Amino acid sequence: MAVASSLSKAGHDIIILNRDIRFGGLAEYGIFPSKLKLRGGLKKQYWELLQQKNVHYFGNVSIGNGKDLTVDDVRGLGASAVVFTIGAQGTKAIGVEGDSAQGVFHAKDVVYHYNRLPGFGDRPFEVGKHVCVIGAGDVMVDIAHWLVRYKKVERVTAIVRRGPVERKYNPKEIRSICANMDLEGIRSEFERIKERLATVGQNHDDVLKGFTDEFTKCEPPVSETKMGFRFLASPKRILVDGHNRVRALEMEDNRLDPKGEDTVAVGLKQYYEFPCDAVVFAVGDKVDETVGLPYKNGTFITNPNKTGNDPDDALFQAYDETSGKVMDGVFLAGWARKASEGLVGVAKRDGDWCAEVVERYLSTKNSGGDAKTVLDQLHSLLRTRQSRPVDVNGLRALEVAERSFAGKTDCIGEFKFTANQDMLACIEQRKSS
Ligand SMILES: Cc1cc2nc3c(=O)[nH]c(=O)nc-3n(C[C@H](O)[C@H](O)[C@H](O)COP(=O)(O)OP(=O)(O)OC[C@H]3O[C@@H](n4cnc5c(N)ncnc54)[C@H](O)[C@@H]3O)c2cc1C
Repeated sequence: MAVASSLSKAGHDIIILNRDIRFGGLAEYGIFPSKLKLRGGLKKQYWELLQQKNVHYFGNVSIGNGKDLTVDDVRGLGASAVVFTIGAQGTKAIGVEGDSAQGVFHAKDVVYHYNRLPGFGDRPFEVGKHVCVIGAGDVMVDIAHWLVRYKKVERVTAIVRRGPVERKYNPKEIRSICANMDLEGIRSEFERIKERLATVGQNHDDVLKGFTDEFTKCEPPVSETKMGFRFLASPKRILVDGHNRVRALEMEDNRLDPKGEDTVAVGLKQYYEFPCDAVVFAVGDKVDETVGLPYKNGTFITNPNKTGNDPDDALFQAYDETSGKVMDGVFLAGWARKASEGLVGVAKRDGDWCAEVVERYLSTKNSGGDAKTVLDQLHSLLRTRQSRPVDVNGLRALEVAERSFAGKTDCIGEFKFTANQDMLACIEQRKSS
């Protein structure tokens, strides 16, 4: 949306192709639903963008092999440039034995579930009484938030590879769950790792104080859930019962070693069982390698050679290692360029920056693709593929329809259709009435 916004303001015609019917990506399906101000502000900006005459929205159009359009189809439409801002849709391989057991989830499965992304919204999430969430970032806090305030499970434990000092979440985020902190449990956990903290110069008392001082302005509790932490612990195996359901995590104890200004976790080869009923991995994402863009090690490949007039250009240019060439006119931005990097503001800045690079590229081209010809070709291709794109009028119809269901909200407090078929049927019905 940031790329589209900048380039549309510069007078270019923009075609947005989006897998989801709704716009917004993780701003719609990732950010916690109760962050009404942030989500509302973004939504307003996105609506404003989509009202522009030179912006053409095609929701429900997926790009990739075997999808509505392939990468080559898109490149073949004749647009002057193509920017892939498709986020980081892959999940990082967990790679521990037992990770296919019932009760093992990726964070995205959970956030898509509570944000009602089609395909996820109606899935049952049976997590039992005690859920371990692996990670110490904002996504861990979001998952814990849902488990504590909406699922109201008995216990949530954040499993953290390093120590409390290395936690990555924003202290403000913890307010949603700090009323449920198991303070006694946290104190004894700090006691358990006291000596290991001391070896890297971290004073137990100071660290504990800094950690618990952040538990201020806590939202009033709505459940009896106890929230705790297990530090210096790496999950090695997921242990299952006779029905292939999670019964425990096998963990390895870690110590901390100094590494420059930072620390690293080093496994101590001491293993123990940590009973739990479900495990959620909140350890970041990678891009979707099946899309058909050059890919390596969890990311799409950008130009490693600083070429062109501006050193920034290479950072956003898609690069084909096989031919050793830049993919002419193809760019990457946001989480598609740097998976799981930063909040919405960071992704927006990346989009703005990419738009500058695209502008420079366009200024070197003598003629751009005529928007009408490109759109005609796109419509005709989507027809032959029997795709059902949703335009801005369809989105409006959907919004009106969903508002009329306002009384039927879920535990999160909003109503959203959870199946594409339902959304499409509703749009058709509204259009014809
Ligand atoms: C759980 C979670 C919580 C977060 N909470 C916050 C928060 O509270 N505050 C905050 O500022 N940031 C938050 N973030 C970060 C924020 O969501 C990201 O910074 C931002 O959404 C990244 O934007 P993006 O456009 O690069 O990718 P995305 O938001 O992932 O958008 C990708 C878009 O590409 C489309 N797409 C994907 N694949 C295809 C395909 N094959 N073909 C066509 N279209 C495709 C998707 O439909 C989507 O519209 C959170 C992230 C997560 C994961």
